[in-house]
Amino acid sequence: MIIDGRAVAARIRAELLSRTARFFENTGRYPTLAVVLIGDDPASGIYVRNKFKACAEAGITCKDVRLPASVSEEETENTVRGLAKDEEVDGILVQLPLPAHLNQERILAEVPTEKDVDGFSAQNIGALALGKQGQVACTPLGVMELLKAYHIETRGKRAVVVGRSNIVGKPMALLLLNADATVTVCHSRTQNLKEECLKADILVAATGRANLITADMVKEGATVIDVGINRVDGKLCGDVDFENVQKKAAYITPVPGGVGPMTVAMLLVNVCNAAEMRHK
Ligand code: NDP
Repeated sequence: MIIDGRAVAARIRAELLSRTARFFENTGRYPTLAVVLIGDDPASGIYVRNKFKACAEAGITCKDVRLPASVSEEETENTVRGLAKDEEVDGILVQLPLPAHLNQERILAEVPTEKDVDGFSAQNIGALALGKQGQVACTPLGVMELLKAYHIETRGKRAVVVGRSNIVGKPMALLLLNADATVTVCHSRTQNLKEECLKADILVAATGRANLITADMVKEGATVIDVGINRVDGKLCGDVDFENVQKKAAYITPVPGGVGPMTVAMLLVNVCNAAEMRHK
């Protein structure tokens, strides 16, 4: 079965409308996301535009904060600090990647935990590691929602996550662990990747390497989640050889139309959660 991320994301986004309306009734304003975009990277510009559109459709107000590529570290930190203090801002998203001269860690550290709707802060990642409530990175959270939507059991299952980045692989592994899966994390130094992947009931590929996961690496009846976004000969594809792997997998996400739409949907959910928590 092909997992329809667009349909699940559309349902989640539609459900948010009543939450944002209720928030407005209670507070006289809509949940608000501030997006800081630095420089003129065209891909980042497209991502930000998509986020604004999705926010508008869900009843979330966006504050569009643009800084030139030449902005200083101090000015950037001051801008984020200002948003941190702004009572009417519920979530802050600093669009990555930042221009090379800016220190990403220091700038992200200015985003207070409760407004960290990307779930990238040390406190939020720490909360996830401790199995406590906090904001969780949107992409791995979206994967968990897909598993839930298709009633794919995680408890007691073997999950293999290929990729160990701080924004996808690690939080993904922690979420699966918290959901009672037995989790293995693989990366570029893993020996016998195929052997590890073959053990997976749930295989999550998050490497950015097109066609890394081939059919001979997938167990019959496994669930295969493809987080990767790659461009090969101008065509968008994931990390999984979809054509051949789909013949073995019980469930598989396509690229595009799988995990991607869930990332945006979960950002909206995180903004609503942040707004409601702050209001409480
Ligand atoms: P990173 O480049 O930060 O991390 C990639 C990870 O894959 C690293 O841990 C790396 O290992 C591992 N890796 C690379 N090559 C291999 C290999 N040959 N075998 C095993 N492991 C390997 O990427 P991100 O985590 O940020 O993103 C991963 C992919 O997901 C990208 O394609 C990105 O575009 C996509 N993405 C998609 C999103 C969505 O909404 N669908 C959102 C975010 C990302 P090591 O640590 O050893 O270097």
